[in-house]
Amino acid sequence: MVRFSRKKSVLALVLVVVLAMLMAACTPAKKEAEPAGETREADVIVVGAGAAGLAAAIEAAEAGAEVVLLEKLPAVGGSTLVSGGIVYGAETPGQERLGVEDSAEDLAQYWIERAEGDVDEELIRFVAERSGETIAWLESMGVEFQDPVPAGTSPVPRGHTTKEGRGAGLIRPLEAKAKELGVEILTETTATKLLTDDNAVVGVEAETKDGKTVQFRGKAVVLATGGYDRDEDLRVEYAPVAEGHISYTSRGNTGDGLRMAREVGAEIISKNGVIGFRGVAENIPYTDPVGGLIFVPGLYVDSAGQRFVNEAIDYPIFYDAMIANGDENFYLIFDANSVPEALQEGVDDEVAFAGETLAELAEAAGIDPDGLEETVDKYNQMAEAGEDTEFGKPAELLTPVKEGPFYALRVKPAILGTFGGPKINVKTEVIGTDGQPIPGLYAAGEVANGQFFKTTYPASGTSIQMCFTLGRVAGREAAAR
Ligand SMILES: Cc1cc2nc3c(=O)[nH]c(=O)nc-3n(C[C@H](O)[C@H](O)[C@H](O)COP(=O)(O)OP(=O)(O)OC[C@H]3O[C@@H](n4cnc5c(N)ncnc54)[C@H](O)[C@@H]3O)c2cc1C
Repeated sequence: MVRFSRKKSVLALVLVVVLAMLMAACTPAKKEAEPAGETREADVIVVGAGAAGLAAAIEAAEAGAEVVLLEKLPAVGGSTLVSGGIVYGAETPGQERLGVEDSAEDLAQYWIERAEGDVDEELIRFVAERSGETIAWLESMGVEFQDPVPAGTSPVPRGHTTKEGRGAGLIRPLEAKAKELGVEILTETTATKLLTDDNAVVGVEAETKDGKTVQFRGKAVVLATGGYDRDEDLRVEYAPVAEGHISYTSRGNTGDGLRMAREVGAEIISKNGVIGFRGVAENIPYTDPVGGLIFVPGLYVDSAGQRFVNEAIDYPIFYDAMIANGDENFYLIFDANSVPEALQEGVDDEVAFAGETLAELAEAAGIDPDGLEETVDKYNQMAEAGEDTEFGKPAELLTPVKEGPFYALRVKPAILGTFGGPKINVKTEVIGTDGQPIPGLYAAGEVANGQFFKTTYPASGTSIQMCFTLGRVAGREAAAR
């Protein structure tokens, strides 16, 4: 047995301590924890803070879930914020106040017919049946609507526009409600991929504004990331019809939700459709005085000087006519008697052109002069006769084009949103390519609207109605999980 004296033991201890100190000094300092290491927990993680995301977050929080709402831009709202703030619906409080007779089934039929039946009828009926309740719910959140008016091609007043602020009139009260319910809203936080465990989705990985990678882990993820038109590759892949067209959507519409869902095996539904619109330039929206001139139902021609549509038709059908025509530029023609005040601004911005004669105008704008003169002649004759024998525009809108100086506002095809994304069921569960729901993954809003539309948008307000109704369902289902 080895025996140490007390003196030797103390010496040994001192030696051990000194050695340990020396080793510590020589070992390189341990690196600071990698930013990627941060993990956050919540019950429900909602990605995207537009109509669908806010509705989902509110419903999930009201059901008692702890909710984190991730938004990649510095402010919430998405395309919903810049929208016209119109919500389409049947059996609504507004219709009741006006005594309008309407039914959810008639609304569903309208949507189905406008899509020539190429839609998920169960999903359409599901939304139509809840559309009135959704508008009542929005009112209960503090959203104020004007009396409904017709939208699309139906004469039934179903378009409910906010009293103030267009899209902001929808977003602001919901943002306040979400905060009041304790939803944690993290802006400048971009979800980059879904986290999975076996085949279930258990969270998302996100980049924060200071460049950190954080994993948000939870029981359910709701994708509410909007459309994909701001991503050139996705636009070409899923909506080539809109290649090169002006986009008025939120710049957050880069299809992140579609990509993330696709990566975990979601079935993607797309039919090459968009919310077709028109505009004078990317930086001049229709809310601008010059941009708003696109709605004047005057004489429109293509660059061959030919008319191509009933100019008073609903804007998505007008867009289709532009696409069928194939030209890139179209022109709204004014004469000295019909020139609106804002047009001079358009001339200054070089989106409108002027000429003392039609020939001069044609040269300035790049329109075929003979075609333009011929079309104006014919149009004036129809105006005089009081009948549009070519395209059936109402007689009272046939304003003749007679006296110079003449003007042409250049108008191009534009889009307000995209169609297509992961397939969902009426519980908003995302469906995989094997036909089964992907556990823990939900999607609602423009990100998952492929079953709701064919290629032509049926009526203003349809998209936001679908976003709110299905966003609410997603929030409830995610919380229940
Ligand atoms: C000018 C304009 C006018 C319109 N007017 C109307 C109208 O009056 N009525 C109507 O029904 N429709 C209208 N539309 C269409 C409608 O606004 C949209 O289809 C709808 O608002 C989409 O809602 P959403 O919640 O799905 O997406 P959004 O409102 O676009 O919200 C999606 C959010 O997700 C965020 N996001 C995206 N990716 C990520 C990520 N990786 N991580 C975190 N956040 C992310 C985006 O930044 C965005 O804030 C209009 C569109 C435009 C552009």
